[in-house]
Amino acid sequence: MEEKIDFRKLGLKVGLELHQQLDTKHKLFCKCPTKLVEEKGEFNFIRRLRPTRSELGEVDIAALFEWKRGRYYLYESYDNYTCLVEGDEEPPHELNREALEIALTVALLLNSKPVDEVHVMRKIVIDGSNTTGFQRTAVVALGGYLEDEEGIIRIQTICLEEDAARKIAEKGAEVTYRLDRLGIPLIEIATGPDMHTPEQAERVAYKIGQLLRITGKVKRGLGTIRQDLNISIKGGEKIEVKGVQKLELISKVVAYEALRQYKLLKIKDELKKRGLRENDIVFKPIDVTEVFKGTKSKILKRALKEGKKIVAQVLPRFKGILGIELQPRRRFGTELAEYAKFWGGVSGIIHTDELPGYGITVDEVNKLYEYCKVNPEKDAIVIVADREENAREALKAIVERAKYALKGIPKETRAANPDGTTRYMRPQPGAARMYPETDVPPIEITEELLRKIKEKLPERPEQRYEKFIKEYGLSKDLARLMIKSYWLDLFEKLAEKFKGKVSPILIATTFENTLKALKGEGVPVENIRDEVFEELFEKYAEKTIAKEAIPKILSWIAYHPEEKVEKAIEALGLKKLKLEEVDRIIKKIVENKKELIMARREKAFGAIMGLAMKELRGKVDGKTVAEIVKRKIKELLRNM
Ligand SMILES: [Zn+2]
Repeated sequence: MEEKIDFRKLGLKVGLELHQQLDTKHKLFCKCPTKLVEEKGEFNFIRRLRPTRSELGEVDIAALFEWKRGRYYLYESYDNYTCLVEGDEEPPHELNREALEIALTVALLLNSKPVDEVHVMRKIVIDGSNTTGFQRTAVVALGGYLEDEEGIIRIQTICLEEDAARKIAEKGAEVTYRLDRLGIPLIEIATGPDMHTPEQAERVAYKIGQLLRITGKVKRGLGTIRQDLNISIKGGEKIEVKGVQKLELISKVVAYEALRQYKLLKIKDELKKRGLRENDIVFKPIDVTEVFKGTKSKILKRALKEGKKIVAQVLPRFKGILGIELQPRRRFGTELAEYAKFWGGVSGIIHTDELPGYGITVDEVNKLYEYCKVNPEKDAIVIVADREENAREALKAIVERAKYALKGIPKETRAANPDGTTRYMRPQPGAARMYPETDVPPIEITEELLRKIKEKLPERPEQRYEKFIKEYGLSKDLARLMIKSYWLDLFEKLAEKFKGKVSPILIATTFENTLKALKGEGVPVENIRDEVFEELFEKYAEKTIAKEAIPKILSWIAYHPEEKVEKAIEALGLKKLKLEEVDRIIKKIVENKKELIMARREKAFGAIMGLAMKELRGKVDGKTVAEIVKRKIKELLRNM
């Protein structure tokens, strides 16, 4: 399946929209902390969203749809982590200055031009993730660029936004959101559609991520950075893919989405070649329950037992098309199924390109074609087993989607799957509807403020590289690794914090060697929180643990991500021993191996050291053990 594709030839264009949480003390419009909570809400409330007409008189169709589904939202809130602002019971406070300064810093690093005055706007959101029904956003800077080896990447806008509430659960019509995340400041950086290969898109995302990290003011870890991608190929449509959380998935998402669009354009050509026109595809559901009366198919039998109907829709001249693979393990039929699920609320569809199958026999397929009076050589049939009304809605959506196959690629918002393929999420909303947020006064960006920020601009990577070598004693290779490292900001923070107590080399190699080695062994190191490293080096600085204990502790924590380092030390029995105790243990070993030492004299060191480390590894430094072993051997030989 993996054909070699020349993405430049396809006319691939990718734009990034990167959202990164800022590590500020307070939220964007209130004084709540920017911390996530693991406990359930202390008090909860329920809201519903009603679609309203915009000033142009149109109703947002997606909003209307959510409302028709009877959705309601349960919000979890807290005493210490949320306030009346998140609950929309109190107007927002003034825009957080700390967040504004970070955004301006990033703007200057990206050669972007700050606006004269920051105006907060309201952007409509319809999924309940904001209690207000809109998200507050403000343009901070316009234009700018970033250099990449394959060309200049234009920056379009840099905005400050409030993060949305976290979706915790979805059960029937009830959606539960936690308000801890609502209002955490986000910086949004939108690039031009200037990337032309999957690898370039990923590299640029890393570069922007790196630039954000050198400010030392952004949050880290899964969920703190989210990428939306705009992807198109020549002859196609700009498709939005939302919510890619792992940067290393970007090149895959881009490649698979470009492949999907390429295949859809090929399907369009094939359908045209078959002489199909849009008007040939007519919504005409046929009740085919009769055909499957005595079926052995488990799926259909269960549906019939529940009193559901089996309804069919003919797709003329689509034979073979539904089985075409667009992305790995995702066929054109999968796209139809997603429309059916979204618009009809059905659990799935069955189509003739995958039959016989699902326990449906050749005989039944033949009967189905006869019953629908269409040609089994040319036409395809889709069936849905559900309540009649749902089945009809599902098939109506399928007909619309099938018609679109003649135009090419439907404009839609898609989501990324964990394997990098993409799935239908919802129709693309029209141009973002924005209204001024009248509760927040505009902020003027003065020359003085900009001067202050320019003076404090973070050191460029080259300056840091020098510093790492001169001040921290890192080797050139290690310094180079650290500059590009995902851990750069945390490394710098810890190197400063433990100055004179923990060697920066140990901190750097913990990130760049130990973590990588553990990852190579399959340890889920991504579970380890930043605070763990801080605790870890604190324990090391106060000599509670030995250097050798570090990999073991990290590995243990990776499997017990909620626990503290203290607990890991206890569980692993790694508490550093008092010197007298080490002395006692080595003395015992030496006495037990008296004969060996007498026979081999100083050469017995290796063997004794091995035995000692077996007992003491992680509880005391290897260096200390070696010294004591040597001394004990000498003492023994002297006393002979
Ligand atoms: Zn608050």
